[in-house]
Amino acid sequence: MPQAQSGFTATNVNISYTFGQQITFLARLTSNIPIQQATLSFRNVSEQNTRVVPLTLNADGSTSYQYDASQHLLPPFATIEFSYQATLTDGQSATSGPFYFRYDDNRFPWKTLSAESVTVHWYNGDNTFGQAALDAARAGLQNISQTFPISLDTPVDIYIYSTFDDLTSSLTLGGKQWEAGHADPSIGVGMLAAAPSDTQSIDLQRLVPHELTHIMLYRSLGGGFNHLPTWLEEGIASMEELYPNPDYENALEAASKNNSLLSFEDLCVSFPADSGRAYLAFAESQSFVRFLRDQYGNTGIVALTKAYADGLDCDLGATRAVGMPLNQLDTRWRETVLKQNVWGVASRNLLPYLIMLGLTLIVPVWGAIGVFTAGRKNAG
Ligand SMILES: [Zn+2]
Repeated sequence: MPQAQSGFTATNVNISYTFGQQITFLARLTSNIPIQQATLSFRNVSEQNTRVVPLTLNADGSTSYQYDASQHLLPPFATIEFSYQATLTDGQSATSGPFYFRYDDNRFPWKTLSAESVTVHWYNGDNTFGQAALDAARAGLQNISQTFPISLDTPVDIYIYSTFDDLTSSLTLGGKQWEAGHADPSIGVGMLAAAPSDTQSIDLQRLVPHELTHIMLYRSLGGGFNHLPTWLEEGIASMEELYPNPDYENALEAASKNNSLLSFEDLCVSFPADSGRAYLAFAESQSFVRFLRDQYGNTGIVALTKAYADGLDCDLGATRAVGMPLNQLDTRWRETVLKQNVWGVASRNLLPYLIMLGLTLIVPVWGAIGVFTAGRKNAG
């Protein structure tokens, strides 16, 4: 990757790394005028903060910088942009670059299979497994396209880790919290955990379309994607799973009976950190978004995503898109899907107040009758 600009030349530009351990930046910086000072700067293109480090040059201009990636976490599959800067003894400064590389999780011997712009990556299982993943991606995209436009102008990569430990270790190393699957929509990457088994096709038809949905939602909404309430984004992704999680139903029923359902107003910004509550949040969001689609159709779902992408808050977005605030939609969902008698409960709670109200209305009536009777007496 040699590149000459005014002042100096960077040659032998090279990168080597072990994911989650260290990244080594190698280059040779040469100039007709001696280099007084040289720096390397690099950043994850999805983030703003740039790291700048001073370099020591050998006599031949070669330099090597080792970055401790175990302490300063970079997310897996991030595109890293880097460049070299030099100040020459004549006072001039110049830059060489930018150069780019993708920070892959290279701890595993990935196998790949591609069709059109979609590539699946896996390391446990034979080609049948990879083919099942690719089939799940194709079927998932077709399903998603019934609601949202599909964009495959830039590549999509799905990484299938064999175990949750493998997946979560990469996310931890990448600075993310524990998640069942993960998508980095802006770079077109989805990650999940699935292993070869008798149920591999079903597992993949659930997990692959889910992560693809995050990516396609991002592509259809652009920057506004970041404003989507968590319940809506995860609810849509879960709704697009070709084999819905059968355990969600049980979780919903139990929470409904115990009166421990989470309110959607509390699921706008994020899901609970506790994994049991997070599971319930997924179950609720999936059921709620299905309910909304039954009520308002795919156009209603698209209207919701657009309203939120425009930056409306959790209540106003729903009001603009479907004419009802979020808490009322929540009530409707509880009544319709979970068969809760929400108004029945509410009116039972209101009963003592209704009796009080009745009494306060009755007293003046009796009083009025008393006055009326007295008046008659006087007249008589
Ligand atoms: Zn998700």
